[in-house]
Amino acid sequence: MSDCLFCDIVKKKVKANFIFESKELLAFEDIRPQAPIHILIIPKKHIPTLNDLKEEDKAMMGELFLTAKEIARAQGISATGYRTVFNCNHDSGQAVYHLHLHLLGGRRMSWPPG
Ligand code: 5GP
Ligand code: ZN
Repeated sequence: MSDCLFCDIVKKKVKANFIFESKELLAFEDIRPQAPIHILIIPKKHIPTLNDLKEEDKAMMGELFLTAKEIARAQGISATGYRTVFNCNHDSGQAVYHLHLHLLGGRRMSWPPG
């Protein structure tokens, strides 16, 4: 086991319900879903937070958002709506320090977030 849970999911050392996989990305169901649909989309490369993104990550991040759009379509929530969230560092509540986009949908959400 490495010291990063999501790296271990990428290496298939920790089980997850996979939704999508490409050369650079992986998407899987959140273990504690906060909505009927709650999927995490991550780069396979270990990037701790949004603060650590580099120029070289531009194409991967573009693919990540296009993947979020495509997963939302496949899950049938494009028209009803969904939320995408990156938590960054302590004040946001980030718990896993491997970049991940939360894709949440299937229920009405409130704003502002807690
Ligand atoms: P964060 O708070 O860092 O933005 O979100 C981390 C997310 O990872 C949480 O929504 C949490 O439920 C999810 N999570 C934590 N451990 C696991 C795990 O072992 N497997 C999966 N699939 N999700 C996890
Ligand atoms: Zn990692």
